[in-house]
Amino acid sequence: MPQHPVHLLGAGPVGCLAAILLAQRGFKAIIHERRPDSRRQGAYGGRSINLALSNRGFLALAAARLEAEIQSVGLPMPGRLIHDRQGQVQFQAYGKEGQAIYSLSRAGLNYKLMDLAQLQGVQIHFESRCVDVLLAQHELVLEHQGEIHHEPYHVLLGTDGSYSALRYAMQKTDRFDYSQSYLPHGYKELHIPPTQGGEFAMNPDGLHIWPRGQYMMIALPNPDRSFTCTLFQPYEADPERGVQEGLQDLQSDEEILRFFKRDFKDAVPLMPTLLEDFRKNATSSLVTVRCSPWNYGPSCIMGDAAHAIVPFYGQGLNCGLEDVRKLMELVDAVGLHPESDQQAWANVLETFATTRKPDGDAIAQLALDNFIEMRDKVADPRFVFQKNLEARMQEQFAGQWTPLYTQVTFEPLTPYHQAYRNGQVQQALMDRIIDRIYSSLSEQDHGNMNLIDPIIQQELHAIGQA
Ligand SMILES: Cc1cc2nc3c(=O)[nH]c(=O)nc-3n(C[C@H](O)[C@H](O)[C@H](O)COP(=O)(O)OP(=O)(O)OC[C@H]3O[C@@H](n4cnc5c(N)ncnc54)[C@H](O)[C@@H]3O)c2cc1C
Repeated sequence: MPQHPVHLLGAGPVGCLAAILLAQRGFKAIIHERRPDSRRQGAYGGRSINLALSNRGFLALAAARLEAEIQSVGLPMPGRLIHDRQGQVQFQAYGKEGQAIYSLSRAGLNYKLMDLAQLQGVQIHFESRCVDVLLAQHELVLEHQGEIHHEPYHVLLGTDGSYSALRYAMQKTDRFDYSQSYLPHGYKELHIPPTQGGEFAMNPDGLHIWPRGQYMMIALPNPDRSFTCTLFQPYEADPERGVQEGLQDLQSDEEILRFFKRDFKDAVPLMPTLLEDFRKNATSSLVTVRCSPWNYGPSCIMGDAAHAIVPFYGQGLNCGLEDVRKLMELVDAVGLHPESDQQAWANVLETFATTRKPDGDAIAQLALDNFIEMRDKVADPRFVFQKNLEARMQEQFAGQWTPLYTQVTFEPLTPYHQAYRNGQVQQALMDRIIDRIYSSLSEQDHGNMNLIDPIIQQELHAIGQA
């Protein structure tokens, strides 16, 4: 029986992990990557660009036995460090003692996955850009050093990111649903170097947030003791909503410095290259892509190609890596092997696409909702009260209350769509509990759990009866 390779587009983290796990199952995997080999080219310009990985990502990486190694080079962030306008910093835990998300170098993670893929025999063709996919003929159109050539595929996985060539080909087929929407905000990456003594300039044990209503800045620690900051700011001013200047208004040195000194006063002295970084680093946009179906015959999109989301839940890559874990579960359940025919693959890809799509939609919405939480609500006393109450409820009423953030971030076996639904029910319940506390108890009793616990119990009981 002939053995059929699996073709993949894109050697990002999702494509590499998928190729590794296929190779482990005996499949020949071939990746076409548009860029040159970033390990040689230093595509990341020497600066640390990081992201937060959590339990869903680690569970998927565990299948490649990379979980412990990746986690050991990450910096644990057990909570948020909220900076107010006066420079006061307040810690809000993400979960229980011992739970943390991890700040990791994007480049480091991608390099590790590429190394392992090649070690497992995966072929990565660099500077091999997919310019079209002829879906009916099962043929890739590739461009390499200015030459175009066609390559037939047996199975094709589109792991080529938010501007996927495979998705673009699918968009031209009948009854393909597609929407993309941009936030009015752009983002810009900035830098806080280590101190002259080589130490972190701020506390490294958390994700720093400067919430400012309609906009915010965040900072994640790097192993080299620097921080990567990201400013999320509307492109245009909107004074009625408290946005005095948009990104496009920050042109002169004076305008940039005035803005930062007013809103991020405590960060400015830690950012000696602020003006240089602000000018040099590109402003990027924030897109949400929703589409359906993700599969077409023996081809399927995964990762950002299927569900590009805004970064505010820190779940984009976690979700993409989880896609791979879910697909492999189906491959194993059906017993696909290198001789399996296209129809067998098409069936598996259809099951993957239909069962996974609700999770893609749920995390896209959660990520949009979390932007409002991060940039605005974290500074709101009612929100802080809710977080404290949630921690208490998780401890006191174990099994009856798991905070939404915990379900999304630390409980990888709870599907995103389930967490989303639970979150909706819980928020309504929480609103009722807080309304009752605020209306029936005096302010000095807002910490009196002897009075608060019965209210919680009654509301939990009521929901149990519903
Ligand atoms: C500002 C920001 C912060 C983020 N923070 C987090 C975070 O904290 N946690 C988290 O989990 N996620 C985060 N994300 C999301 C995360 O970066 C993405 O979800 C993740 O990179 C997606 O991986 P991927 O492999 O699907 O796509 P990509 O990483 O985009 O990789 C796609 C690959 O395909 C290649 N490619 C593209 N087109 C073609 C083509 N036509 N032919 C061949 N190759 C092609 C590209 O060169 C690339 O190598 C963040 C995103 C942004 C923008």
